[in-house]
Amino acid sequence: MAPQPDFQIPGGSAASVKIIDTTSLISKVNFVHTLGPAIEGVPYVPDCPVWSFLIENAEGRKVLFDLGTRKDWKNLAPIVSNRLVKMGWEVTVEKNITQILEENGFSLVSFEAVIWSHYHWDHIGNPALFPKNVALVVGSGFNDEFMPGYPAREDSILLESDYEGRKLIEIDFQGSRSLKIGQMNACDFFGDGSFYLLDAPGHTVAHICGLVRTTSTPDTFILMGADSVHDGGELRPSRFLPIPESMNLRQFLPASIQNAICPGHILEDIQRSRGRQANEPFFTGNIAYDIPALMQTIEKLQHADAQKDVFFIYAHDRTIMDVVDFFPKQVNDWKSKGWAELVKWAFLKEYWQGLRLDKLNAS
Ligand SMILES: [Zn+2]
Repeated sequence: MAPQPDFQIPGGSAASVKIIDTTSLISKVNFVHTLGPAIEGVPYVPDCPVWSFLIENAEGRKVLFDLGTRKDWKNLAPIVSNRLVKMGWEVTVEKNITQILEENGFSLVSFEAVIWSHYHWDHIGNPALFPKNVALVVGSGFNDEFMPGYPAREDSILLESDYEGRKLIEIDFQGSRSLKIGQMNACDFFGDGSFYLLDAPGHTVAHICGLVRTTSTPDTFILMGADSVHDGGELRPSRFLPIPESMNLRQFLPASIQNAICPGHILEDIQRSRGRQANEPFFTGNIAYDIPALMQTIEKLQHADAQKDVFFIYAHDRTIMDVVDFFPKQVNDWKSKGWAELVKWAFLKEYWQGLRLDKLNAS
């Protein structure tokens, strides 16, 4: 029996959630810089979309969680845009998120805040395109580490224009709205239990996740994992969510082993052949400012990921692409539509060609 996960969430009301395809696409990201252990014949991670989330509580208070990449990314702080060119990644952006919102009838002035999960260029958009009434919300430790922006500080990764003239709110995970959800420090953002920010350091300083109550009778949630992982295989399998022996796995297997009596056992063999324990995640993340802190954050998130009422979606989650509805539709009914079950193990299908299945088949 798997141990019981610990992710108790207090009661509260629900908020509407919409997932916005920010039209950013990042390609040619080196696999071994991102994930380990390497997989033979897989030089790059699959192309990364960038999702943003629009959250609106029962009183009509609206916020955005992440903005995607700004269309004119060459105008990011020089230290960032220069590094981007050097990395050799391919970045395409069709539209700024502000254009996507306005094309769908949302007035920018109606938003209360933009929340940055963290400071990386593919999440921060261009806040200067929002009117000044829209606050900028950041994680704990942000100001000490990153302020002021460029050009006040020559080597800053931010621009002064990102925050100039607007309220900059750093979340205090010890403040009056703070609480613990599972083992995570949390903050009840609206004060009505509909939307929590979760302290999730490791990928960067001040990295945060979001947790929205999608329905309240019964309680269901979407956990916005941001960049705490870059692949479902960094979370799964886990102590709390072992490789299932069920038939559901078959849809993710290559034809050659789809009729195997027990696909779960084959996956366990693959894990061992890669030097992993059966219930250890397929991958270890390599993109982190602080790897031990990231490992702790991932362990805490695994408690959430194992809950049947929590749908975990990370910022670059490709597996939701052909499954969920996107903005302007909402995704609150994810549970009755069975979306979480459809995507949970879908990361497996991207790596089969490198996993030496012939060998495993013969044994
Ligand atoms: Zn990212």
